[in-house]
Amino acid sequence: MKKLLEKGFIISKTEFIAYLECPFQFYLLKSLNKAKDQSKEPDYSNYEKFLQDGLKKHLWLQKFYENYGTEILNNNHPVLKEPDKKESWKQDFLDFEIKRYKQDTIFWKPIEVEYYLRNDSLCGKIDRIDQIDDQGNCRIVEYKSSPNMHDEAELLFYAFLLTSQLPIQELPTISKVSEMGVYYYKHNEYYNTQITNEILTSFGINLEEIRVKMMNPRSIKKNRDCDYTFKNCLYREICQRIQINCQKIIGL
Ligand code: SF4
Repeated sequence: MKKLLEKGFIISKTEFIAYLECPFQFYLLKSLNKAKDQSKEPDYSNYEKFLQDGLKKHLWLQKFYENYGTEILNNNHPVLKEPDKKESWKQDFLDFEIKRYKQDTIFWKPIEVEYYLRNDSLCGKIDRIDQIDDQGNCRIVEYKSSPNMHDEAELLFYAFLLTSQLPIQELPTISKVSEMGVYYYKHNEYYNTQITNEILTSFGINLEEIRVKMMNPRSIKKNRDCDYTFKNCLYREICQRIQINCQKIIGL
């Protein structure tokens, strides 16, 4: 099999988090991504139910400003559309956004949602970008169902990626990523933190070390503590079938 971990490869946010979870999960994901026809729309129909559910929720959050933004900006109190009323987390999010609007009527509306970025070594899609003042500062926001130990790393990945691309012609009002936030829609909780140049520099060094490890086949090992029931790993079945003594067959 063709060697997959050659130099110059681009890491997506999903691949980065997969590596933090388990290097072998990263390897399987990277291999499958490489084999996919990138010109086709991704097919999620065979995803597990909880993943499909998460995708639907993300889509609703993505469309939220289209569906309810004008009414909020007109200082009305929108009522959820009929099918949305059945899910209490949607009401929580609407209330949360109305409250946020009242705190900052000028910069409340995001300047981008689901914003795809790519540079020479990283790529990913940021759930939301908010301008936070007229000095060029912005905040990146991710939507997650519940907290995960890698949430901070994920936000820093995006902050680092966006910073590397600024200034961006189509986002002329922002010049610096200075905050990052995460909204947990299952719990209606929001956390926000400041980002400094020191934090981003330190993350960049860390990321480069991880990239070097990713390109070293000897670092691609299964997570020792994994018992193959780890729900977030989509590769449980294939992983069980690949014995580590078959490394040469899979090109490691
Ligand atoms: S099943 Fe466990 S060991 Fe195998 S790739 Fe997934 S997380 Fe890693």
